[in-house]
Amino acid sequence: MLSYKECRLCGRACCVDRTAGAQGFCKSTAVPRLARAALHHWEEPPISGSRGSGAIFFSGCSLGCIFCQNEKISHGGLGVEVGEEQLAALCLSLEAQGAHNVNFVTPTHYMPSVRSAVLRAREKGLSVPSVYNTSAYENAEALKSMEGTVDVYLPDFKYIREDLAARYSYAKDYPAVAKAAIGEMVRQCPKPIYNEEGILLRGVLVRVLVLPGAVANAKLSLRYLYDTYGENVLYSIMRQYTPQAGLCAPLNRRVTEEEYEDVLSYALRIGIRDAFTQEAGSAAQSYTPPFEALEGLR
Ligand code: SF4
Repeated sequence: MLSYKECRLCGRACCVDRTAGAQGFCKSTAVPRLARAALHHWEEPPISGSRGSGAIFFSGCSLGCIFCQNEKISHGGLGVEVGEEQLAALCLSLEAQGAHNVNFVTPTHYMPSVRSAVLRAREKGLSVPSVYNTSAYENAEALKSMEGTVDVYLPDFKYIREDLAARYSYAKDYPAVAKAAIGEMVRQCPKPIYNEEGILLRGVLVRVLVLPGAVANAKLSLRYLYDTYGENVLYSIMRQYTPQAGLCAPLNRRVTEEEYEDVLSYALRIGIRDAFTQEAGSAAQSYTPPFEALEGLR
């Protein structure tokens, strides 16, 4: 299941042989393509800490949201190809720069290489946790093979409504696929564990991005997550949605203060006490990392 041959790493189940150069929906071969590897300070505090998270941004994406903020790397093909040995070396380099963890961003379509790279890096002394930072649109069976390789899962839960998943990500099955994937993540990492600096060593932190005009989707998502996992996962309620050019209403505007506050009040009402939240200023283009900066990759 954890293979680039007859690829079924994500919900698309393209069944193409990427080792032979074939490409599925994610337009990616079996050789990882990276857009950036650097210390990153804009994750939640237990991930970024004081020194930053060692973020490794992959190019390509298996989901393809129409409102993507990282279009240049998710579909623009930006990046450089790296082997698994080089990926392992990058992990060690980021740890040497002070990273609290190594953070694989959009890793779904490169799951086998992530696993291999973490195991190689650990053999060579990697000691910080590995973070798997994902849309949650992965095959739960494939994720089982990541057990012991991933320390912290950082999944989105984008949609609980199939109609939104179909309209915004061409993936009507996203709710079912993501529920199964997050269930597997929690099975592997059932409780949050921190070090003395407050850095997450193990656990699952689920992100719910509030989309404009989709408050009900965010509320229902939080309700589902809290009913299912309670305090066993951490919650992050995000307002960083930034409209990209050419989108129609309601995606052509930011989330209003009222919409975001409505979701936060609801989270409190259903019992979520400790969610990470974002200030209004997080909804800005500047939040998007500078993907042109390929330091460490050339
Ligand atoms: S990762 Fe997903 S989108 Fe990419 S080829 Fe495999 S099944 Fe298809």
